[in-house]
Amino acid sequence: MSQQMQGQPMIIMGDDAERMKDKSAQEHNIAAARAVAESVRSTLGPKGMDKMLVTSLGDIVVTNDGVTILEEMDIDNPTAEMIVEVAETQEDEAGDGTTTAVAIAGELLKNAEELLDQDIHPTAIIKGFNMAADQAREELDDVTIDVDRDDRETFRKIAQTSMTGKGAEQYKENLSDLIVDGAEAVTVEADDGSTIVDLAFLKVETQTGRSAGESELLEGAVIDKDPVHEEMPAESENASVLVIDEPLELDEAEADTQASITDPSQLQNFIEQEEQALREKVDQIVDLGADVVVCQKGIDDMVQHYLAKEGILALKRVKRSDVEFLREIIGADVVSNLDTATEEFLGTGNIRRDESEELFYIEGTDDDSHGVTLLLRGSTEHVVDELERGVEDALDVVGTAMSRGEALPGGGAPEVEVAARLRQYADSVSGREQLAVEAFADSLDVVPRVLAENAGLDSIDTLVDLRAAHSDGDGRAGLNVFSGDIEDTFEAGVVETPSAKKQALTSASEAANLVLKIDDIIQAGESDDDGPAGGMGGGMGGMGGGMGGMM
Ligand code: ADP
Ligand code: MG
Repeated sequence: MSQQMQGQPMIIMGDDAERMKDKSAQEHNIAAARAVAESVRSTLGPKGMDKMLVTSLGDIVVTNDGVTILEEMDIDNPTAEMIVEVAETQEDEAGDGTTTAVAIAGELLKNAEELLDQDIHPTAIIKGFNMAADQAREELDDVTIDVDRDDRETFRKIAQTSMTGKGAEQYKENLSDLIVDGAEAVTVEADDGSTIVDLAFLKVETQTGRSAGESELLEGAVIDKDPVHEEMPAESENASVLVIDEPLELDEAEADTQASITDPSQLQNFIEQEEQALREKVDQIVDLGADVVVCQKGIDDMVQHYLAKEGILALKRVKRSDVEFLREIIGADVVSNLDTATEEFLGTGNIRRDESEELFYIEGTDDDSHGVTLLLRGSTEHVVDELERGVEDALDVVGTAMSRGEALPGGGAPEVEVAARLRQYADSVSGREQLAVEAFADSLDVVPRVLAENAGLDSIDTLVDLRAAHSDGDGRAGLNVFSGDIEDTFEAGVVETPSAKKQALTSASEAANLVLKIDDIIQAGESDDDGPAGGMGGGMGGMGGGMGGMM
């Protein structure tokens, strides 16, 4: 933006470029953004439908997870992409609530369009939306329920609510226990003395073959690898573990040089040198005192052979994420070059092999080693993948809720309560912003409405009943879609978290504002090599970025 004159984006157009300004540009953008929001709405809530998506590579994904749907949809309209970004931000920041955020963003835009039709300037709408979002966050703080850290039952409910409607739901009793146990296992004291759940010490692993109900929480790390050599020991107590990301083999380039050797004696010489270099690596490992070698790269056959002879267990091509997690658990530094490694780099742990599972289990021996692995099982890849998405989301919200000791009733209760309070707040707002605050409040109704709709209930009746309950002072009244009743959803066990809800409001209103700020679309002409969509994507993408900076 900074190099552009007077804040105007400088865009050079071809002869056949199309241009849309003001109203029609806004209408176009709003329509695109709303279309995306509509497409995921039907997945909201426990009775939401799954979507089956086929990726550009032909892979099939069956999911109820909003962000997964949007990421797989391969959207190339720039305003629609902003809505996808809402989902991504929500996923990164809160781990759950993506469909809610996207549905609210779509509704904000729909209601904004009505205000635009009444000739209310986008600036006033944006200002009103920002005021309303700030106020809504305050109101959410006010309705937040304090939860004791030992109140396992509430945290289990949070996990279960987060998993409902997903593949994980069927096993929610079992999984919510594992999630709460896992979060408790990685609760640590932060630098400022507070206790927090540190999910960096919890790794989710998946394995196909057994039923999801057989998922378990394990101490330490799990590595899904075979020993590189049959004669290696399969377990080791108090082992010194070398974690290395340098290949224990000669690289391709060195192997290639063989081709240029013509004289047989030269060749012999070369092979000896090679052997010598590999032998040296083994000697270095032995000198370091390693009992176990975990290598992120490959290990040469000869090295495997010598390591086995030395009674050292080695694993090769271990996933980077496993290496990083293992490092935390056993207190090792990753070695990138054996020449500079010292004993201090090694970690200590107990390692054992489960032959029937073909897994290695590694636990740290240090007193403050507290890493755990949540091993998710399922019959097929599709099952475990959907399970993993559900469990990862639930872990995020439970972790935050446990760290902060807070919760909210679900089933639309907070949305209806905050909307009612916003309508009151609107009275204190003057000018056209007042209408925008009211429109914001109305937009929150989308959550209970769609929850009812997806459950086959009458959405208008539901909303009317909910509003009546809240105006009678029942601030926790929500829709329990299992019973179909309007009740205190917190008591009914439909429990959510304030952090995810606040984030959903923030990301929804930011995205809506971003779309509203654009009043000029320049679409490159058809003659462009990369086609109309590509050309527009590039130009608008740049504008979107610049706008983002202004917020
Ligand atoms: P998101 O991607 O926004 O998390 P979900 O499909 O997970 O979307 O749906 C979340 C919504 O479903 C929340 O508003 C939550 O309160 C609601 N919900 C979950 N379980 C129930 C239930 N039993 N009855 C009513 N609403 C529920
Ligand atoms: Mg959810």
